Amino acid sequence: MSRSLGGTGDLDARVRTAAFAFLTEQTGLHGDTLPRSLLAEGFLFEGQRVPLLGPQGIFKPAVLLELPLSITTAPIVEGRDRPYADEFSPSGLLIYRYRGTDPQHRDNVALRLAGQRGVPLTYFFGLVPGEYLAVWPVFVSGDDPDALAFTVEVEAKDLPWEMARDGASLVGEGRRRYITQLTRRRLHQESFRWRVIRAYQGRCAVCRLRHTELLDAAHILPDGHPRGKPILPNGLALCRLHHGAFDAHILGIRPDLVIDIRKDVLAEPDGPMLRHGLQGFHGQAIHVPRPAELRPSAELLAMRYELFTKAG
Ligand SMILES: [Zn+2]
Repeated sequence: MSRSLGGTGDLDARVRTAAFAFLTEQTGLHGDTLPRSLLAEGFLFEGQRVPLLGPQGIFKPAVLLELPLSITTAPIVEGRDRPYADEFSPSGLLIYRYRGTDPQHRDNVALRLAGQRGVPLTYFFGLVPGEYLAVWPVFVSGDDPDALAFTVEVEAKDLPWEMARDGASLVGEGRRRYITQLTRRRLHQESFRWRVIRAYQGRCAVCRLRHTELLDAAHILPDGHPRGKPILPNGLALCRLHHGAFDAHILGIRPDLVIDIRKDVLAEPDGPMLRHGLQGFHGQAIHVPRPAELRPSAELLAMRYELFTKAG
């Protein structure tokens, strides 16, 4: 008996190790954001295909006998509530909601057991439909049946430079909380970036450049301003050049969406990059999403434009 139990534990560990190796390889190829189709297809393990996620949030592939491999938060769909209201607790831990309202549902039981055994999982955070940020390893650290939720902590794959600077002395629980906090910031930033780029159909609002790798989600009012929230009415998809010009107050956007190039820059005689990249857009309108709820707020643009006029 002990031999077969040992075998099961060994299989579980080998599948998890293979899953982490696959994710390391794929993020090396694609960057931090992975397409859902790639994760649903998964990897080959001893001749058997192992998907990394499934239709439900708590996911156990067939190859594993009892414990889940991953947990997933569905992406925000603009104009609709999040299907699963996952958030972070005031103490900075990830809150992962039960499946349904029955604490004894088999998925909840299995995830609870993974926590009790200290088994590492992968957390997939949906940025926009079809695009997921993968975070691993994560551990279920707590269970609150009254709130119908688990708490989840992120552990370091390897120590990030911020850790070396600020948190080298942190150990155990403190270290995980610290890393979970860094992860929270990363999830929110990536989520904002993808939602803005998706809303603008992958194009710069000024020049229509269509290269996601060269696009940023610019804040109209900056991060840190009381109204500088990472929400679509405060966002613009801009290419690197136009984001830089916007932040440097070389390029201003009036609340009626018309582009202003700062006077001194407009008057500069220089090469084709200046002429086509900046001066040529003076007096033109930016391109914004059609649905009203995805558009930049005229009020926030007006506040930002005031800063631009002061700079000029
Ligand atoms: Zn541009």
